[in-house]
Amino acid sequence: MFSADHGVRPLRRYLLVSLVPVLVLGAAAEFSIRRQTERTAVAAAQSRAVLVADDVVEPVVHLSVDEPSALDDEARTGLRAIADQLALGGSVAGVRVWTPSGQLLFDGADPSADTARVELAESLFDAAEGDASVLRGRAPGRISPFYTADSRRLLTVFVPLHTADGASVVAVAELVIPWAGDHAAQGQLGLRATSAAGALLLWVSLATIAAVVTAQLRRSELAHRHLALVDQLTGLPNRRSFTDAAAGTLATLADHQLPAAVAVLDLQRFTEVNKAVGRERGDELLRHVALRLQSIVQPGQVVARLGGDVFAILLPGVDGDAAMAMLPIIHDVLEAEIDVAGVPISFEAAIGVASFPAHGQDIDLLLRRADIAMQESKRTQAGSEQFTVDLDDTDHSRLGLAVELRRAILRDELQLAYQPKLNLHDNRVHSVEALVRWNHPERGPIPPSEFVALAEESALIVPLTAWVLDRAIQQAGRWAAEGLHLRVAVNVSAKNVRDDRFPEQVIRLLARHEVPAPYLELEITETAIIADPDRVARTVRRLRSAGIAMALDDFGQGSTSLAHLRNLPLSTLKIDKCFVDDLCTDAMDGAIVYTMIGLGHQLGLEVVAEGVETQEQFSTLAAWGCDVAQGFYFARPMSPAQISEQYGTPWYLAPDPVVPNRSVNVRPSP
Ligand code: C2E
Ligand code: MG
Ligand code: MG
Repeated sequence: MFSADHGVRPLRRYLLVSLVPVLVLGAAAEFSIRRQTERTAVAAAQSRAVLVADDVVEPVVHLSVDEPSALDDEARTGLRAIADQLALGGSVAGVRVWTPSGQLLFDGADPSADTARVELAESLFDAAEGDASVLRGRAPGRISPFYTADSRRLLTVFVPLHTADGASVVAVAELVIPWAGDHAAQGQLGLRATSAAGALLLWVSLATIAAVVTAQLRRSELAHRHLALVDQLTGLPNRRSFTDAAAGTLATLADHQLPAAVAVLDLQRFTEVNKAVGRERGDELLRHVALRLQSIVQPGQVVARLGGDVFAILLPGVDGDAAMAMLPIIHDVLEAEIDVAGVPISFEAAIGVASFPAHGQDIDLLLRRADIAMQESKRTQAGSEQFTVDLDDTDHSRLGLAVELRRAILRDELQLAYQPKLNLHDNRVHSVEALVRWNHPERGPIPPSEFVALAEESALIVPLTAWVLDRAIQQAGRWAAEGLHLRVAVNVSAKNVRDDRFPEQVIRLLARHEVPAPYLELEITETAIIADPDRVARTVRRLRSAGIAMALDDFGQGSTSLAHLRNLPLSTLKIDKCFVDDLCTDAMDGAIVYTMIGLGHQLGLEVVAEGVETQEQFSTLAAWGCDVAQGFYFARPMSPAQISEQYGTPWYLAPDPVVPNRSVNVRPSP
């Protein structure tokens, strides 16, 4: 996955780059050594020349100021002896004596210091215009080392000679000094070697540090990459590496026009199991599941954990139908029991499959569509589903609808309809059920079964219930102010009754609208109870103790056990419409309804039958002692104004417009 070249190339580049400053440093050191050597050589020559001129030459040159060119024989002999002696010693290569005006009085220079030198000296004297002090000051700087015919390097220094009393300059001594710079330079070889070795050492150390640091960085980069690609809990590839690997595989398959399938797998009830066994054991379970999935995949297939209890499998070379045929193996493997601390646990999985290229060309879309199919398999409880285009459309429009519903709640665009409930003992309407309505500006009226379910799947149900409660309580207050004392029933969802803060919110709303608690009833469904019976019991108890009536809605549809009913301080049982529908035509349904009425009464509950559509049903229910009926037979859900109009002042005196002949008395056949 990674090339070895990856780390070497930057190191090599670094070494080359670091060599540049090291070389520059070396060159600078060499340059400064050379300059220093030259300066030292020139200064040494100057001081030697001055010493020789003052101590040796000047005493023998007895010139008078009046007659500067008259060098006598004795002086000449003396100078010759000095020049020879100095040349012999090697410290001075020659001596010349000039008049201050540039006339050569004595030439005791090395023959190789030829005429060119003399000419040079003469031109210098011209420039100095006879001022020897100027000459002396300038000469060492002005006259650079020169080479003799035999390639010796010499330096020439001019030094003024004075009269015996030292008062005036009578002549100028030119001393030719052998160039000592080369010797000095040789002496600096050690220094040079040391500085070169230092630079090399510096470079090598830098290179070593760079190599070590690069290797460390490389190692930690590899470790980080590994961590970023592997799911820490199970060791399986994570979502990122799954999508990377799948993208590569899909590209290869596309070249060969081969199909592939992507399966997304969700463990059902894992959240509950995790809660029950504790987090650590939950992790252990996930590791088991990962191992099992890994044990069944073939070479080339990839299994990954996408997060939580969701896994994905890439099946190359297999189309959607073939993948569906392989799923039973996965179901079997997961359903086999896993022993967790002596407790056998098994999982059912919801699996969705999307196929390449039919359902998408890229892995992200395939994963999304496999996920949609997986959600569908949860809904249908089929265990596995293959993606179809209609599923995606539904999904898209549902998503859009959820966004619009949120907006509708915020903008107050929903309405409440109220359906009267008729008391079968006095033929009067004492209560109504608030039913939410959404008239979508483009789609028209959307049935609550659709958008309430959508709200229940998301967190939207919380603001939705809050909105309904607020409006319904407010309406109950308004009717009461009109003299119409109606109890308003509001449907609440499982999420609401599992929230410990819910009872206080309801009590606060009643207080805000100054409506007494008996004007409110809450309807909960059996599914809400089953999800978390203990917590629901707490909520129901709190609400009941505040004086709010509590009804169990759609009774008979779910699977509430009698034990649940006994533990809940309910006030009302609402028999589900599906039993009421065939109450008069199906003996079994009739028997069920009859029994439910009896059961409710035995538990001390008021019994309501919902979905009453015919006079026959109505009469039968009344005859069997059912307390309240709700249904299209005598009233559909209607607006608050319609309620006021039909049941308003003085509602109890109004003739009962809907109560049919109540003489019918049907008993279920045995
Ligand atoms: P539900 O609570 O069982 O409400 C009764 C439903 O049965 C209402 O449907 C009502 O219009 C309908 N119905 C009443 N009598 C008859 C009848 O004789 N024949 C037939 N065919 N239907 C009848 P709706 O308004 O469509 O509401 C459906 C469901 O949506 C409700 O069932 C309730 O579960 C839910 N729902 C409605 N409003 C709300 C709400 O504000 N909050 C919550 N959480 N759920 C609500
Ligand atoms: Mg209801
Ligand atoms: Mg109902």
